[in-house]
Amino acid sequence: MKKAVILGGGESGVGAAVLAKVQHYDTFLSDSGTLKEQFRSQLQKWEIPFEEGGHTPEKVLSADLVIKSPGIPETAPLVVRLREQGTPIISEIEFAGYYDTAKKICITGSNGKTTTTSLIYYLLQNAGLNVGLGGNIGKSYAMQVATEKHDIYVLELSSFQLDGMYDFKADIAVLMNITPDHLDRYDHCFQNYINAKFRITRNMKPEDCFIFCNDDEVTIGELNKIVLQARKLPFTQNGKVEEGAWLDDDTLRVRYDGDEFDILVRDLALEGRHNVYNSMAAAITGKIMKVTNETIRKSLTTFEGVEHRMEKVLTVGGVLYINDSKATNVNSTWYALESVQTPIVLILGGTDKGNDYAPIADLVREKVKSIVCLGVDNKKIKDFFGGMVPVYETLSAEECVNKCAELAVSGDTVLLSPCCASFDLFKNYEDRGRQFKEAVRRL
Ligand code: ADP
Repeated sequence: MKKAVILGGGESGVGAAVLAKVQHYDTFLSDSGTLKEQFRSQLQKWEIPFEEGGHTPEKVLSADLVIKSPGIPETAPLVVRLREQGTPIISEIEFAGYYDTAKKICITGSNGKTTTTSLIYYLLQNAGLNVGLGGNIGKSYAMQVATEKHDIYVLELSSFQLDGMYDFKADIAVLMNITPDHLDRYDHCFQNYINAKFRITRNMKPEDCFIFCNDDEVTIGELNKIVLQARKLPFTQNGKVEEGAWLDDDTLRVRYDGDEFDILVRDLALEGRHNVYNSMAAAITGKIMKVTNETIRKSLTTFEGVEHRMEKVLTVGGVLYINDSKATNVNSTWYALESVQTPIVLILGGTDKGNDYAPIADLVREKVKSIVCLGVDNKKIKDFFGGMVPVYETLSAEECVNKCAELAVSGDTVLLSPCCASFDLFKNYEDRGRQFKEAVRRL
């Protein structure tokens, strides 16, 4: 019996462990931290041995195959030792792919992954297809492969998941955009991160489709360097393309295999320029999957969006409050600022991942009347924006929202789109977004 060791006991690790068990591996799961109760009881239910609060080296090093959680970096000492002794280390997605014959639609990018993945899933469900949702979102893909049966999967893939993928093949790959992010995990080398994103195209054949943003210079630069067998379907907001999606005045048009789809931009449920891209990617996918124009239209006009992404919370005293807590890098905040058409009180701050704020300086000058920091160390923000607009500092969601309410007047927008991670004051971006919304509701 081959021995599979799973490193990391979160959603993906536990799913991988169950799949390994079902596939008759001698399975063991090891986590350096504490497992959540729900995962502990799942492992017990499936009679999978595990350890937590540290790894026993002998147990891990004796594995024939290691399935590593994307959260564990290459520099972790045990990972280094496994590499030295030549043990294969793969991601949960790669592992599940070995046992799954369903059609796979995979979405990656620096921004827009969750929104586009959810929109494509919604569209395929509306078409009445038997589709599963997984990857970086919702229920573990491996768990579904072990215990359910779907004809199609829509998978959101992060660069870290892609790093652990080798033989996996997407039938449709969607690359939304590439802007610098997570460089701390890529030796501060942008090209390494680009390479990770392009792993989504590995093993693709001429009958597979690659959907990408023609306006993204990094993506185009890389495409010019590599040989890609897949059929290329670009989307763009500048000019026209033969096949793919483009804008014709106020109409979004798609052409695939001689067949067309169109919809007025103002009818799209998701607002803002970035969401035009997301809707384009979903519409092209719909055409490839032979979904009717009627269903594509209905889906793009009725999709309700995803929590914490430009989520309209409430209007209080004529001031609209928007929760964009998921904007943890400068590029996503750029799109948020771009899509708001009123004066803005902007909430920035948190854990800075090495931000360069220059790309949003013009939009801040043009639209932002004051900045309210919600973070522990705000020096970089104060230094950069201090000369442009008044900058205030707050240390809790409640204090922050009260300050914003004081600064905003009827007709303004208060926008939480912080450019930063949240770990200094909150558990995660969801916690930050929820606390923000609660504070707004208390106004
Ligand atoms: P991801 O899963 O890649 O983090 P999300 O869909 O969760 O992407 O959106 C993250 C943030 O990026 C949100 O603040 C959202 O408003 C913004 N965003 C969404 N789509 C795009 C896009 N295509 N380009 C740039 N920013 C985007």
